Amino acid sequence: MAKIVPLTDARTLPGGAAPLDALVARTPGSPGLPTDRRGRALHDLRISVTDRCNFRCVYCMPKEVFGRDHAFLPHDELLSFEEITRIARAAVGLGVAKIRLTGGEPLLRRKLERLIAMLASLSPDLDLTLTTNGALLARKAAALADAGLKRVTVSLDSLDDATFRAMNDVDFPVADVLEAIAAAERAGLAPVKINMVVKRGLNEESIVPMARHFRGTGAIVRFIEYMDVGASNGWRLTDVVSAREIVERIDRVAPLQPIDANYEGEVAQRWRYRDGSGEIGVIASVTQAFCHDCTRARLSTDGKLYTCLFATHGHDLRALLRRGDDDASLRRALDAIWRARGDRYSELRSQATAGLAKVEMSYIGG
Ligand code: SF4
Repeated sequence: MAKIVPLTDARTLPGGAAPLDALVARTPGSPGLPTDRRGRALHDLRISVTDRCNFRCVYCMPKEVFGRDHAFLPHDELLSFEEITRIARAAVGLGVAKIRLTGGEPLLRRKLERLIAMLASLSPDLDLTLTTNGALLARKAAALADAGLKRVTVSLDSLDDATFRAMNDVDFPVADVLEAIAAAERAGLAPVKINMVVKRGLNEESIVPMARHFRGTGAIVRFIEYMDVGASNGWRLTDVVSAREIVERIDRVAPLQPIDANYEGEVAQRWRYRDGSGEIGVIASVTQAFCHDCTRARLSTDGKLYTCLFATHGHDLRALLRRGDDDASLRRALDAIWRARGDRYSELRSQATAGLAKVEMSYIGG
């Protein structure tokens, strides 16, 4: 978890603004939109608005690590909505066209609709979306849509109630998540995407039922290979059910064909049912790395910018904001961070890299 840095010392302490100042100083300014060292543009920004969650999914926030006495970030360490919006504005100016709010569970952040309205006002073309576990979505969907949210992605790892309750580890029922998905559709937050993380021996038997249930409904299920995110989920390569196997399992009962990505850098590979009854996505982050066109940056709850989901440290934008830097300085810092980026963790992944110290997904957003 983040170290508490007295603001007055932020220039001098590791993890404060000083390393970022040095990076900006050695990065030549350029008028165009930045690309990183591998020629990738900045297109997506994922913003974690809280490190808390009301689930304890075994692959993300296992109870043994995130128990009752776990120290989450105190409120004054979180970026305020105004701070988030300033960073988002700078990012949009550098090419970001899609913002996804994440957590933890983002709907636990109070008055989130206010942040959504602030972000929606940055650009009418901004693709503004949110990933949620669905527990609070049914009651909030209409207000989120009214504030300017365009779509939601709901995490649901199984339709089998016993399996799902075991995976979320707080005994939350499938039926309530299905009701939340319906409420999101009624509110116009469509197409709803449904993320299912597939772990060998845990929920692989739910792949086909999940595809069947949502086929023909307009919702898009995205099957995600189990990843070595964070340091607390005990990942092993043998836990991974490959995207290829997932597609083969579904294709056997409902024939599929591949379709083009919606845009360059889209994470999911798209497949449509040959009979026209909809599409699915598979996210093959382990077996078919897609670092070569990865255009995503992640902003942690306490204002650190990470240029890879598997990064070991982030750039402290909060320190810049709280010492009074103006918007032009903030933009220069973001520009320099992106130009210095060379991340390609998934291309280098092995059983050995899985053990490296990485930030937790609940802190950085998925
Ligand atoms: S490993 Fe890092 S660079 Fe590669 S796709 Fe994932 S987030 Fe992007």
